[in-house]
Amino acid sequence: MPSEFDLIRRYFTRPTRHTLLGVGDDAALLRPTPGMELAVSTDMLVAGKHFFPGDDPRKLGHKALAVNLSDMAAMGATPRWVTLSLALPDADEDWLKGFAEGFFEIAQTYSVDLIGGDTTCGPLNLCVQIMGEVPAGMALRRSGAKPDDEIWVSGHLGDAALALAHLQRRIELAPEAVAACLPALHTPVPRVALGEALVGIAHSAIDISDGLLADLSHILEASGVAAEVRFPALPASIFLVARLHEEAARTCLLAGGDDYELCFTAPPSRHEEVMAISRELTLPLTAIGMIRSGTGLRLLDAAGQEMKTGAMGFDHFA
Ligand code: ADP
Ligand code: MG
Repeated sequence: MPSEFDLIRRYFTRPTRHTLLGVGDDAALLRPTPGMELAVSTDMLVAGKHFFPGDDPRKLGHKALAVNLSDMAAMGATPRWVTLSLALPDADEDWLKGFAEGFFEIAQTYSVDLIGGDTTCGPLNLCVQIMGEVPAGMALRRSGAKPDDEIWVSGHLGDAALALAHLQRRIELAPEAVAACLPALHTPVPRVALGEALVGIAHSAIDISDGLLADLSHILEASGVAAEVRFPALPASIFLVARLHEEAARTCLLAGGDDYELCFTAPPSRHEEVMAISRELTLPLTAIGMIRSGTGLRLLDAAGQEMKTGAMGFDHFA
């Protein structure tokens, strides 16, 4: 049996790029860039709740870091350092090898240093803490939305929820749709470059981890504003568009989690700049509605009539 220290050395010790002291001492040492603020966030993935225990460890390694990178994106921060705390039921080296490969691949893509963590025996649980940097005073907060801001979302919504609904047999997808939607669930792409580009342009931002309506509602509450969202404007995934008459499909679009797209608000005067960012990043950015004064979230149909959301199971967001 390899010791905990062997496992850490073998699988979780890699050269760092911008860290004074990384894995191996009692604490890591960092030197934050002068003039920057630190953005710090933690996301835990629990087997049986956030993923299936038998899921591909490589994809879990990717996702455990991707969901944390997404939080940095939502703040407009540049991700820099992560710690990794693992509870493992046993020292399964095939699993650890796959997990570490997936984890370090995405860490490298975003130039993030793994600087420490904790490894213990217990029910499978993956906990990442991430630290990023953002110019002082410039972070994208949930609380900055203003009346007359446009509301935007990146990418397409619903693929991850659709894949999950299929795996849970709540929806039946054709094989090519399953193949196209599963990556959104298993290997989400955090919108880090978008978050960085929105600093100084967006008034507020959040990443969509719990579904568009739930996450937009967090912006509304934090900012003390209301919103009108145009249902026909929502960038539904191509696999959802054809099924939007189905309640389950609408739920994937409006309340499906795990998309890890960004929802943000910006004044209409910045519309062209947002569109330029979209072209530069080759990432669709769609204006889906407006911030209003008041409270609550109104969903409007093509005729501008308020849609009933109760039957779709999210009237508590109104
Ligand atoms: P301590 O006894 O001081 O708590 P540990 O034995 O828990 O130290 O960890 C030894 C070193 O390995 C520390 O630098 C810690 O940050 C690092 N470490 C432990 N687990 C992990 C992990 N899963 N990934 C990266 N670094 C880890
Ligand atoms: Mg320890």
